[in-house]
Amino acid sequence: MSQVRVRFAPSPTGFFHIGSARTALFNGLYARHTGGKFILRIEDTDKERNSDAFLKVIFDSMRWLGMDWDEGPEVGGDYGPYFQSQRTGLYKAKLQELAAKGRAYEKDGAWWLRLEGARTAAYDEHLKKDYEKVDAAPMVLHDLVRGQVARVEDRDFVIFRSNGEPVFHFVNVVDDIEMRITHVIRGEDHLSNTSKHLELFKAFGVEPPKYAHIPLILKTDGPGKMSKRDKGALIEEYQQRRYLPSAVRNYLCLLGWTPADGKEVLPIEEIIRQFEISAVHQSNARFDERKMSHVNAQTLRNLPAAEFAALARPILLESKVIDASVSDARLAEILGIVQEKVVSLEHLPEFMGFFFTADFKPDEGAKANLTKKGGDPVARVRELLPVLEAAAWNEPALEAAFAAVGAAHERKPTDYFAPVRFAVSGQGGGAHLLGVLRVLGRDTTLARLKSFAA
Ligand code: GLU
Repeated sequence: MSQVRVRFAPSPTGFFHIGSARTALFNGLYARHTGGKFILRIEDTDKERNSDAFLKVIFDSMRWLGMDWDEGPEVGGDYGPYFQSQRTGLYKAKLQELAAKGRAYEKDGAWWLRLEGARTAAYDEHLKKDYEKVDAAPMVLHDLVRGQVARVEDRDFVIFRSNGEPVFHFVNVVDDIEMRITHVIRGEDHLSNTSKHLELFKAFGVEPPKYAHIPLILKTDGPGKMSKRDKGALIEEYQQRRYLPSAVRNYLCLLGWTPADGKEVLPIEEIIRQFEISAVHQSNARFDERKMSHVNAQTLRNLPAAEFAALARPILLESKVIDASVSDARLAEILGIVQEKVVSLEHLPEFMGFFFTADFKPDEGAKANLTKKGGDPVARVRELLPVLEAAAWNEPALEAAFAAVGAAHERKPTDYFAPVRFAVSGQGGGAHLLGVLRVLGRDTTLARLKSFAA
């Protein structure tokens, strides 16, 4: 087979949402999987609704997600220009081509596609392979995801409006022809357009590409489609919330596709290796913010320590949790226990601020929990203090100290954990406690415990 050529063809009429990102991603994955080309084409023929700001968001978001295109705006390629607004001459010529064949005619100032017309031998050949048409209808599309889909296209339709502007169906098909697109991977909302597109291919006498309509993304609760107003719908949101782009990309892959081995958090190389269009689900996907957050946490955890530190340092500097004097070694020590527990880089400053100041803000909920069921956190810390003062400052020794004080007072060692954690950090959760005490150091830990117990 000739080289796979797929395209992502957004209209810059709104923000870049996860549905668009997922469509772009599936195209990109398929191109990488097959060693083909991934083309970005901007469908900006609707002058009123297009904006440069939206265009910039598309480019920025795609690059942020690591979805670089092989041909398209800012990159070039042999089949440009890649903005439909710059291809008007071509569309007019292609209209003339159909008119000359008797497949387009003018009525009421608009140009229409004539459905019944001379078929070419090439198209008939293709028809035998992939499509059937029984007289006027129905036409059967063999969709790579949906399987056989029957549609009836029994009326001529407008391809150029009376104001001289070509309609979406026409430019979409002309460009898929001119850009030698082999596979059209797009949202299921376009399934209903496909019979028109097939009629256009037929009129041009060109073999159509293979189609793959990928399932809708439903909102977290209820039957509705995820809309751009729903929380979590815009890619920009994840940028602002400091999600890892690789994690967002990983999660997007799971909206309509499952890796064969069921392992859901995996590196992009592995996703590319496994990705198959035929394995894309027919049923709708459902957006799940908790799962997205889980994938992000898991991806953070899997980062090499040096990479995690390189991401963390500027965030901590910006939020003034640290200043430039904090050494890489000290930071690495702290991050070493934080990395496996923090769920998002966004939380890093509040998660680890207490390592650098005793003047932290205690968490009210955590405080309330300490005294629930008659707990006496001050008494627990007082019991523990002398034992800790005598302990060597490493994790096994600290663990033994908790066990010893528990045994002496007929309590579980864990009864001491929450009071101690709160006393040294003001928090109800966080990194592994013994690690926190070790990294915080003997002097700081004991000073904070004493001031809590005073
Ligand atoms: N411009 C169309 C859209 O944004 C693209 C349709 C297609 O991929 O064929 O939905």
